[in-house]
Amino acid sequence: MAEEKTNTPVNGELSGTGNFIHNYIQEDLGENTQRLHTRFPPEPNGYLHIGHAKSICLNFGLAKLYGGKCNLRFDDTNPSKEDTEYVESIERDVKWLGFDWEDRLYFASSYFDKFYEIAVKLIKEGKAFVCDLNAEEMRQYRGTLSSAGKNSPYRDRTVEENLDLFERMKKGEFADGTRTLRAKIDMASPNINMRDPVIYRIAHANHHKTGDKWCIYPMYDFAHPLEDAIEGITHSICTMEFEDHRPLYDWVVANSGLEAKPRQIEFARLGLTNTLMSKRYLRALVEEGKVDGWDDPRMPTICGLRRRGYTPASIRDFCERIGVSKANSKVDSSLLDYCIRDDLKEKAKVVMAVLDPVKVVIDNYPEGQTEMLPVENNPENEGLGVREVPFSKEIYIEREDFMEEPVKKFFRLAPDKEVRLKGAYFVKCVGFEKDEKGNVTEIHCTYDPLSKGGNSPDGRKVKGTLHWVNAATAVEAEARLYDYMMLDNPEDPDGPIIMNPDSLQVKKAYVEPSVKNATLDDRFQFMRNGYYCLDSKDSKAEALVFNRIVPLKSSFKPAK
Ligand code: ATP
Ligand code: MG
Repeated sequence: MAEEKTNTPVNGELSGTGNFIHNYIQEDLGENTQRLHTRFPPEPNGYLHIGHAKSICLNFGLAKLYGGKCNLRFDDTNPSKEDTEYVESIERDVKWLGFDWEDRLYFASSYFDKFYEIAVKLIKEGKAFVCDLNAEEMRQYRGTLSSAGKNSPYRDRTVEENLDLFERMKKGEFADGTRTLRAKIDMASPNINMRDPVIYRIAHANHHKTGDKWCIYPMYDFAHPLEDAIEGITHSICTMEFEDHRPLYDWVVANSGLEAKPRQIEFARLGLTNTLMSKRYLRALVEEGKVDGWDDPRMPTICGLRRRGYTPASIRDFCERIGVSKANSKVDSSLLDYCIRDDLKEKAKVVMAVLDPVKVVIDNYPEGQTEMLPVENNPENEGLGVREVPFSKEIYIEREDFMEEPVKKFFRLAPDKEVRLKGAYFVKCVGFEKDEKGNVTEIHCTYDPLSKGGNSPDGRKVKGTLHWVNAATAVEAEARLYDYMMLDNPEDPDGPIIMNPDSLQVKKAYVEPSVKNATLDDRFQFMRNGYYCLDSKDSKAEALVFNRIVPLKSSFKPAK
């Protein structure tokens, strides 16, 4: 068996030097850390998700930190599920996250000739053989964790016979599944991956890049180390499930005749609560119409997060905060919420929008008059300036900001109670009307003209400050309020998909007119509610659609 390097698990931050991956890099490269060469190797068989973002930030982030390089490489060795649609989306997503592969965009499929050449070399050296066992027979010969496997009856074929059969496999003389090329290693190895693993299979399938040129395809465990070695990768960072494959990785590299000796390092996959990332599940959600495509704002895909309104900086911050370790664990989705709030709190313009409107008539306000009142764009960032918001006799407030019979500690509007309208005036409730069902349809108030700007004229205090929107000039918009995609993670990974039934609520909102010319790059805080952006797919100039990126409140406090 190839010599095992021990990867000692240590938790740590990506940018710090405590993380175990940094230790390996420094140990291997000494002073020459700028020789670091990593890669991000997606298989183009689906859209990238937040788990991939962890890997992207890690690989590109390390290269950036050390002044090294990171390749973008499509690991397209399995033709059946791969497609150029995915290639394009992956390139877009990596770029959007803020990373640059410069001129190093590679496809594993462009090394198919080289892989074949190395396979032939292995055959010639007596290190690979063509095997006629079918999948079921191979399973029987493989043995178990506690018992050794048995040699294939085809293991001792001559080099000539193997060369002939392998070439005929390549020429398409044999049906799928009838023969394989296997590495000749050790059927008694305690590591099942080392028991003469299959390195080539027959698949008469059309490949998105190489078309019908090939009907044999290399297996991942053979192709991946060769791809790394061909590109001169120094550190091949992958997820924990490949830990047991590392001896095979090293065996392939050592016997390839290639000069580079990349080191495989494993880290824990990202898991998140209240969502799932398996491509199979995500595809099922899309195909069953449970979501509005791969970029549905509830999806954990990068395109979904982008449409939802997440910024690249917030996702990079999230990947930084979760750190890198070897212990698989689930990260609380509220950390992702925290990161986007943190990014937007000083950047987003705070505007007023009413999502569940009830009309307020200010009885003593002059009929036909409109005032433009200055309101700061972001109380936490003076640099964002002020804007003018129209105010007149009829406005909307949130239905939940009024209570006919206020409960204890309800400091908002109620009969005979006075509140502040943000940036406008003190108003006092003097009456209200209800429909036959008992719903409040209109509230009547009087205002105090001396409280302009929301300032107390005589030192009297009000406890509540409400947001509001002027009725005549309000922009009617659709607001889509998103919540976590799932109530919890399904226990059974193959079981049915249980969506959070409240993961999407659609509301008709009234928004202040300053949002009229909003662009897709704008982020808003709807005061007292949450962060919003326009929906890139459905919003139109004449019918704005806002996505709630995240609500304002959070129970989450990041560890110091
Ligand atoms: P799936 O299992 O959903 O098909 P995958 O891991 O096979 O996903 P790839 O396209 O092969 O998807 O992944 C590209 C890279 O991203 C790999 O290096 C993989 O280890 C890494 N990666 C994928 N999912 C995660 C995750 N949840 N956390 C961290 N890294 C991940
Ligand atoms: Mg994979």
